[in-house]
Amino acid sequence: MIPGFEGDKFGPEKIVQIRKPAIGLEAAVVIDNCATGPSIGGIRMAPDVTLEECARLARAMTWKNAAAGLPHGGGKAVIKADPSMPDTEKAQLIRSFAQSIASLEDYIPGPDMGTNEIAMAWIIDEIGRAVGLPAVMGGIPLDEIGVTGYGLKRAIEAAEPFSGIPINGARLSIQGFGAVGKHAARFLAQDNAILVAASDSSGTISNTLGLDVEALCRLKEAGGKFCDLADADVSKGPPEEAIIADCDILIPAARPDVINARNESAIRAKMIVEGANIPATLETEIALSKLGVLIIPDFIANAGGVICASVEYHGGTENQAISVVGDKIARNVRTVLERAQAASIIPREAAAELAHERVEQAMSIRRFG
Ligand code: NAD
Repeated sequence: MIPGFEGDKFGPEKIVQIRKPAIGLEAAVVIDNCATGPSIGGIRMAPDVTLEECARLARAMTWKNAAAGLPHGGGKAVIKADPSMPDTEKAQLIRSFAQSIASLEDYIPGPDMGTNEIAMAWIIDEIGRAVGLPAVMGGIPLDEIGVTGYGLKRAIEAAEPFSGIPINGARLSIQGFGAVGKHAARFLAQDNAILVAASDSSGTISNTLGLDVEALCRLKEAGGKFCDLADADVSKGPPEEAIIADCDILIPAARPDVINARNESAIRAKMIVEGANIPATLETEIALSKLGVLIIPDFIANAGGVICASVEYHGGTENQAISVVGDKIARNVRTVLERAQAASIIPREAAAELAHERVEQAMSIRRFG
């Protein structure tokens, strides 16, 4: 059906390809599974996106939304275009795309790579349906309030009975100091975690006595780079150094596959909380788990963003979003780690089982699955 993506009993339910050659619109929507509710998933705009990528991402959203316990299924959209085009052209493409999906009511678009809250505003203006909106249109500014970073903190807290690592006094290394990484550092430092290493794309900075989190946040918010930091107490190294730093908790919050066969034997963290999507290869995740490293998988730990989007869609406020994110992530972390322990499986496997069961249960109630 889709080259490179095998459908199965879960989906996809709908595959829609959209072409408007007159304005250069080439796009696709894959609605994977709506048993738990109308699908939510971002619109990715890039020149090289494919239908296969769209289907894979839609499936990932099915599991992520189910694992988060949201009343939403999984879907995704791709628009084949350069996101750096002028805004007038981008608005035309996005608005035309929105009109083309008006009747696909079981797909609720959100932002992803190459699209943002303004794009979501254009969509809601056209069809009255989108999440990740600007605050003036009822949106909850999730990257500003750092809701995904807050979720990571709640995940670490909930895992303490399994990890034996309290936040108070925990030595922390964070790879990537953007919307996810810097807010995680902020929330954890409030509870007396010690940030011993942090990286951005320019390099890693470290100090065994602890880095000044607020000063680093100010530096990044002013557009600065870690390699330019002037502080005699801080050691500097290449960006990868944060991954192998001597710490209790490692939070990868940048790129995929950064924890892999090349560096797994050098990892010193006792616990890894996956802020980024797929930051570790599966083989390395299994190998590290066998060595006793507790890994909270991405789609459980970093679900704060999509939970927040769901609260926004259902008319909730910022405070409600923070509270729901904290409660859901804490509960899911406990459930996943209990299952993993009881069945002697890795947390990722336990999380996948949980998501599959939730979707299967919802499918059994629906008339047509
Ligand atoms: P961002 O662009 O705000 O920040 C990314 C940070 O990573 C920047 O500080 C950048 O300098 C740094 N970086 C890039 N390459 C690096 C490298 N090789 N080594 C070290 N640092 C590097 O992005 P973000 O929103 O914080 O997202 C980070 C990751 O988390 C992505 O994988 C994203 O898909 C995932 N994620 C984000 C959210 C969210 O709410 N923003 C939710 C779920 C998952």
